[in-house]
Amino acid sequence: MTSPFAVSGNEQRFVDAARDLAPGFAARAHEHDAEATVPVGNLTALHEAGLDMAAMPEERGGSGLSYQALGEIFRVVGKACPSTACVWMMHLGAAQALVSYGPPVYAEALRAGKRFANALSEPTGGNLFLMPLQRAEPADGGHVLDGAKRFVSGCEIADHFLVNALLDDGPAFFGVSRDDSVEMVPIWDSMGLRGTRSQLVHFRKTLLRSDNRCRITDPLAPNIIALGLPWLSIGIAEATLDALTDHARSRVVPSTGRPVGDMQWVHFDAADAHVKLLAARTLAERAMWLADHGDPGTLPAAVEAKLYANQVAKDIAEFALRVGGGSGYLRTSPIQRHFRDAQAGALMAFSTEVCRDMIGRQLMGTVEA
Ligand SMILES: Cc1cc2nc3c(=O)[nH]c(=O)nc-3n(C[C@H](O)[C@H](O)[C@H](O)COP(=O)(O)OP(=O)(O)OC[C@H]3O[C@@H](n4cnc5c(N)ncnc54)[C@H](O)[C@@H]3O)c2cc1C
Repeated sequence: MTSPFAVSGNEQRFVDAARDLAPGFAARAHEHDAEATVPVGNLTALHEAGLDMAAMPEERGGSGLSYQALGEIFRVVGKACPSTACVWMMHLGAAQALVSYGPPVYAEALRAGKRFANALSEPTGGNLFLMPLQRAEPADGGHVLDGAKRFVSGCEIADHFLVNALLDDGPAFFGVSRDDSVEMVPIWDSMGLRGTRSQLVHFRKTLLRSDNRCRITDPLAPNIIALGLPWLSIGIAEATLDALTDHARSRVVPSTGRPVGDMQWVHFDAADAHVKLLAARTLAERAMWLADHGDPGTLPAAVEAKLYANQVAKDIAEFALRVGGGSGYLRTSPIQRHFRDAQAGALMAFSTEVCRDMIGRQLMGTVEA
């Protein structure tokens, strides 16, 4: 019997396109990590394979790809090169908002291969990226923003930014084209996901043009980033499990004369890792299914899926480090990179603490003070 979460036959070609690209992405992942370079070639290849427009709504010229298929693609890309998956997810998320709720020019720009980035998180706002604290003041043609956004993945190659700001009538979102008022501050010498180059971006009296305002009616509606983030962690966790398995089968422990993988504690933890990963994937598939069926429970399901996937990626990374021993701790081992990359998902909004708080409040019936 086919899984209710299976990708439909007519969407399989998009998944196949990502699978074809994945070996090349995996081959270059170490280099992008070591040199902290944005995987521009990978992002171009995803665009040329038609995967940028595929994820956009049909009424705006896209293929209206299901969330289920998109999740599978994020998993495949994230397993091969998580920095590529992260920058691409932010690009698609910003594009989704601007193409769906902004002027038609954004669909044309995306089709032409222009790059998008999310400039939402504020230095003083942290996880509360949907509630900007920085005010934009009224000006001719719109509002002016003098402020900064932090950790903007792929900002250095972006042509258009999705930017939020506080107006008199509340939070608002705008498309901002790159110009001289947009300045990058290179803060991203990070532990993991080094190829995302998620820098600080200063908007120095930047005009937020009224005609580029993005009329997002419900910022909590299903969206590519909230639904995609669990898949980034699942991809990393799968790559980690593969790497640790390879090591466990091939490395002979001097004290036993047998491979690492023959020890009972490794069997037990490998079984736990395998089952946790299946569970994380099922939660993420369920969230995608709910999104594709317009279910009002989609966002809570995405939060549950993100929380669990982030934790599973970290658990498996810790297990991999134990299996790898000193060899896994060396720069030459893929295990150390996966360990570093696995920490990022839990930090990205909503962080695991914020997810736990949201779920726990709901369970306890806690009302805002
Ligand atoms: C790899 C990476 C890529 C990113 N890419 C982008 C991007 O492209 N665009 C973008 O706009 N942003 C991006 N971000 C930012 C990210 O999504 C978060 O908004 C940002 O990391 C949060 O700020 P902070 O880490 O300083 O944490 P803070 O929000 O300052 O949190 C500090 C600690 O407090 C906890 N905490 C915070 N609030 C609460 C609460 N209410 N209840 C309980 N605990 C809480 C957090 O979990 C954390 O442990 C990226 C971040 C990372 C790590």
